[in-house]
Amino acid sequence: MKKLMAANWKMYKNRAEAKATAEDLINRIAGKLPEDREVVIAAPYTALESVGAALAGQARCSLSAENLYPAEEGAYTGEISPAMLKDVGCTYALAGHSERRSIIGETSEFVGEKVAFGLKNGLAMILCIGETIEQRKAGEVQKVIDEQLEAGLKDVPADFAPESVVIAYEPVWAIGTGEVAGEDEIIEAHGFVRKKLKNIFPEKFNEMRILYGGSVKPGNCAQIIALDNVDGVLVGGASLDGESFSQIALA
Ligand code: PEP
Repeated sequence: MKKLMAANWKMYKNRAEAKATAEDLINRIAGKLPEDREVVIAAPYTALESVGAALAGQARCSLSAENLYPAEEGAYTGEISPAMLKDVGCTYALAGHSERRSIIGETSEFVGEKVAFGLKNGLAMILCIGETIEQRKAGEVQKVIDEQLEAGLKDVPADFAPESVVIAYEPVWAIGTGEVAGEDEIIEAHGFVRKKLKNIFPEKFNEMRILYGGSVKPGNCAQIIALDNVDGVLVGGASLDGESFSQIALA
């Protein structure tokens, strides 16, 4: 199973900045990325084409959208379909990032529709889950993970390839705060995710990747990806700079 090192650029970078960062990253990792590693960059829609051009031909480097709309086409002003994303070179999409859940108001059920529709239309999907600090303090971590996985994976097609469904466990209180989850917290949450995946997909759960996200930096990445059931990382702030993300990708 390849470790997946994923960048999430959120709503940062114009086309020129995105191109420059992607090219810088590729220059730094070209020829050095181990065979058992994969890099994914989730970029804003307007930057997808230029980032895709920078990644073209690079082994184990893929382009991702940060979101999608679960319909083929139609009167959905402001939305983007999987076919449009594939047309611009995306092979992955994120679904259910906590910023979309909390700011845009996406429900777990809607996130599940996106995951299923993206998969049925040929994209690999990174389903983001994780609890808020209030939920953690209330002892609800497993309840939240359970609910978000149940709804998020509800209609996944039976024949999916295990590497095409990725779970990103991102405790909301660790995203963009500089406060990385403790090793025990990560091990416990990822162990619970694996157990839940075993219940849902008894034949594929061990080949599905579980990423950790939340204040991953060059200085803490190697320790995090060495933990049980951590199959890679999803990185926001520290992925915006080519040098910083290259250190993470090669950690
Ligand atoms: C994220 O955006 O998914 C994220 C984990 O951000 P950061 O690495 O900045 O905490």
